[in-house]
Order: sequence, then C-alpha cells, then structure tokens
Amino acid sequence: MAEDFENMPMGSDTYQCQNCGAALKYKPGTTSLHCDYCGADTPIDAKVVDEVQELDFEQYVQQQEELNTKATKVISCRKCGAESTFDESLKSVECPYCATPLIESDAYEERLIQPSYLLPFKVSDNEIYTHMSTWLSKRWFAPNKLKSKALQSNKRQGVYIPCWTYDARTETDYAGQRGDNYTITVGTGKNRHTETRTRWSYADGHISLFFDDVMVPASKIITTRVMTEISNWDTMSMVEADNRFLSGFITEKYVINMQTGFASAKSKMESDIQYAIRQDIGGDKQRIDSAKTAFSDIKFKLILLPVYMSAYTYNNKLYHFFVNGRTGRVTGDRPYSVIKITLSVIAGLIALALFIWFINNN
Ligand SMILES: [Zn+2]
Ligand SMILES: [Zn+2]
Repeated sequence: MAEDFENMPMGSDTYQCQNCGAALKYKPGTTSLHCDYCGADTPIDAKVVDEVQELDFEQYVQQQEELNTKATKVISCRKCGAESTFDESLKSVECPYCATPLIESDAYEERLIQPSYLLPFKVSDNEIYTHMSTWLSKRWFAPNKLKSKALQSNKRQGVYIPCWTYDARTETDYAGQRGDNYTITVGTGKNRHTETRTRWSYADGHISLFFDDVMVPASKIITTRVMTEISNWDTMSMVEADNRFLSGFITEKYVINMQTGFASAKSKMESDIQYAIRQDIGGDKQRIDSAKTAFSDIKFKLILLPVYMSAYTYNNKLYHFFVNGRTGRVTGDRPYSVIKITLSVIAGLIALALFIWFINNN
C-alpha cells in the first residue's frame, strides 16, 4: 500500500517546477507542464500511440484485481456524491457537478481500473471564454445576470471524463420473414381503387460483424445526451495515459463499472445487428422471429475525455455549462428570462395588431 501512495495514479501526482518548486499544471494545447509562478515550461515526453492496446474482457472478469488496476485516492462530494481525483496543484477544489467545496479529509482509497489512453485538453481558458460568450450571445432569452455569472472564469473547471470503449466480434443466426409489397385494384365503380398488400416469405441467414470502440460514458456528472451534444471526439489523437496531462485538472472516477458498461455497449451492438439482419433479408418489410448472437474477442479500455464545465446556482437552481476541451463545442442548461420573453410576446402582439390594422386600412 505504501508503494501505491508514492505513485498515486489518476491525477494525484504532483510535478514540481525545477526553477521555483511550485506545482506544475498541464498547459492545454501543448505537450508541456506550465508553472503559473515563474512561467517556466517543462516538456512532457508523451508516448505516441502506434497500436492501441485493448484489455481482454474474459481475463478481467476472471482475475479482476490484478489487471491494470491501482489503488487510487478518491474524493467524494458530500452534497451530490460525485467522485473525483485531483492533485496538489489545485488548491481549493469545488465539485464540478454541484460547486460544493471538496474536503481533503473526505478522501479514501479505492482500487480502480486505470485509464489506458486520453485526449489532452487542447482549448485554452481564453478560448473557452470566447466559445462560451458566442454561445450565450445566441441565447437571447437567457437573463443577462446569468450570462455574466456563467462567464466567470473561477467557476470553470477542466474535468477528464471517464469513458469505456468495447470491441467485439459477433456471429448471429437469424430466422424471419421477408415482405414484398404489391398493389391490387379492388372495388367497383366509384369505389374502385388500388391497395398495397404484402406477400410474406420465409428468410434465414448468418451475420458476422466486428465492432470497434463502441463508446459508453462512465460518468455520473455528464449524461450521455451531453456527451453526444458536445461530440465529436478526435479519438485518433489519443495519447497514452500519463498523469502529467492530468496535472491541474480534476479526473472523475468511473461510476459505471466495466461489466455494466458492456451491457450498454451490447445493446448498441444489438441494434446494429438488427439493422444488418433487415438489410440481409431485403424486400419492403422484414420480420425477425429469432436471432441468436455469439459475442467473442471482447476487448475493452478506459479512456479519459476533456470537458470544461461550470456549475452555478441562479435563483436557487443549479445550472451547468459543458465545453468540449478539444473543439470548444458548448452545451448547457439555460434558464429563460421571464421579462425578456414577456417583452418579446408583447412586441409580437403589437406587430400583429399593426399588421391587421394595415391590411384593413389599405
Ligand atoms: Zn516555477
Ligand atoms: Zn457535488
């Protein structure tokens, strides 16, 4: 255990400036650590990913503890329960989800699967400001007070979001029916018309598919909907997980375990298989009576994706902004200003009244 504490994984390492001894932070968009005190940059010799290594699902299920896991210091939020890790370079840290201050003494140790790869933050804090104000300026109905609150930089945090990816080979035997449409003319006289009917015939076959990197977010603080709204992720630019990239950022602990994540991945794969079966059956309509799928060669890995987020309360309600740390794409919850909406409704009614008056008097 002592050894584990010496080399604390997932953002718990602290890197010191060789000039002045201050804690270094990863500088987004670079491969350097930056010192906020003396301005010195220390390069990170990031490993280039030649061939992505995946972990074996079956092997992990059988020997859970040993495979790529490490004792990790986790802090859980007293208010919302979100769990994360961070290092000494972040002095006072607030929960990225509910903005409650995190308390160091709440930390505990847990054995966790380590991330294999990550996408480092690319967009800088200044650029985030630009992206967020552009996004907010398009939300005319948002109250002005909220806009200024949302843009406060001290409310913004860079969070690495955990995400599982799964590979699998599938072999499916199916049986079903193929429907071919034809038209017939029915009725007599005025009621004479054509109707579409379907002729059904038996169909069966075999589908082989290979799934590569089916993504399942393992976050508590970011929903799958938000992850989709701020995608895409340039996963081709991933680097090998290196704690130096996490320095100065929060890393969220995965809350969906690897097996549960696979169940979600499986249902995504199954809907692709259904689609492939329908293509294979052909015709105008298809019915699938039975489909048996064997999954093999299941591989997985844990990756970290960079998201800037801000959580703030407005009129006693919690609101969030999320920004893709690679592309600057923004999404968020937004309250609507009642005054602004009322004014615009009144303006609309006046315009309508004028329009009616104009029509009637010309
Ligand atoms: Zn320094
Ligand atoms: Zn919280």
